[in-house]
Amino acid sequence: MSLSAKARMQFMKDLGFPAMLALAKKTRGKRRPRQANPDFGPPLKCAGRLKEIMTRHYYLSRFAPGARPVAWVTSGAPVELLRAFDFYTMYPENHGALCGAQKMGPELCEAAEQEGYSPDLCSYARVDLGHFFSGKTPAGKLPKPDLLFCSNNICQTVVYWYKVLAHRLNIPLVLFDTPFNYGEINDTDIAYMKEQLLEMIPVLEKVSGKAFDLERLLKLAELSKSASQLWGQCLETMRARPAPMTIFDAFIHLAPVVSLRGLPVARDYYEILLAELTQRVAQGIGAITNEKKRLMWDNIAVWYKVRDFSELFAARGMNFVAATYTNAWAETIQHLDMSHPWESLAKTYSLVILNNNLEHRLKLMEKMVGEYAVDGLVVHSARSCKPYSLGQYDLKRLLSQRLGIPAVVIEADITDYRFFSEEQALTRLEAFFEALEAA
Ligand code: SF4
Repeated sequence: MSLSAKARMQFMKDLGFPAMLALAKKTRGKRRPRQANPDFGPPLKCAGRLKEIMTRHYYLSRFAPGARPVAWVTSGAPVELLRAFDFYTMYPENHGALCGAQKMGPELCEAAEQEGYSPDLCSYARVDLGHFFSGKTPAGKLPKPDLLFCSNNICQTVVYWYKVLAHRLNIPLVLFDTPFNYGEINDTDIAYMKEQLLEMIPVLEKVSGKAFDLERLLKLAELSKSASQLWGQCLETMRARPAPMTIFDAFIHLAPVVSLRGLPVARDYYEILLAELTQRVAQGIGAITNEKKRLMWDNIAVWYKVRDFSELFAARGMNFVAATYTNAWAETIQHLDMSHPWESLAKTYSLVILNNNLEHRLKLMEKMVGEYAVDGLVVHSARSCKPYSLGQYDLKRLLSQRLGIPAVVIEADITDYRFFSEEQALTRLEAFFEALEAA
């Protein structure tokens, strides 16, 4: 790491970014405010703080190379270990969601397809590779990584995707291999994962130039645990009627627990969000003005449709109050135990929803329907994400039968809207709305 790069990054942190933010606020102040939609309650006040945090994270990342070791990380990897070596971490999946929301999915996917990658691959992978080949991104510029850190607890696609990056960039790829949970997790699997974590230490020391410090890891893991627990508590406020936020809000407010887990900023942000949501519950302020029906969402968001869907459902008095996706960043955190850091990191990261059997998912969804008083289920069958979408028709049928609630499957994608039929989705949703209103 160079002293001049460190000084430049510090300057941007202390002066460059605050100056840019002040200028942006001044310009925004001159714009006419957007007209409020009467179907929604008052917007969350801390949305501005969230935007600031994520903009700062992407902005400062440009100055990280040379100043800090940089890693690209998959969303389900045990990032706490990287934090102990002071890596600046970027999440291509979070960047993929950003590109999806900005409707850049098809353009970047095509850039990857032109290099020979199949349109059947996950569109987060294609967006990331498309960005890699074309340099296009709504985030300005992403820093080149020194290391790739990947866990197959979410899917196998990430292994091949990160192998391509490692090969092209000629940098180390560290893989955390998590055996799939067909039933209960066993001691052999935990020992296998613990061993891998320990074997990573010399690689991370070499790339970062820092010696491992267990005390530091424990502190960072504690911070990570607090952020995930607070995030879980934020989601639990949606058990209230009316719910103080929608799942569409939660899809956005999820960003710090995905990308900044283990840093004080993520924990501090969720303290603010929780305080605001708790206050809204006490004052009876709902995310939508007329909450008549409460829904659950399964799978990742349809990023290019978040606003349209939120308006469509709110106009009918329907609010999404739970989602398996947003729940995933709180679901297993209770296993993280600083008295057994390695074993508990293994458990926390290998018991996540996508590394677990369908019976587990069914039971989880049944529990959530009860706890959040859900009236109906919307299942997003995401063309990109095979592990999340596999078995969804069976899940929908079983949940409808067992719980007697209407359910619908919409076929879409997380970022690539070339494969989305609006008419087909709306036809299915209209039938769902009728069933729900008649229930
Ligand atoms: S969207 Fe699905 S397939 Fe793509 S990286 Fe995420 S888990 Fe893997």
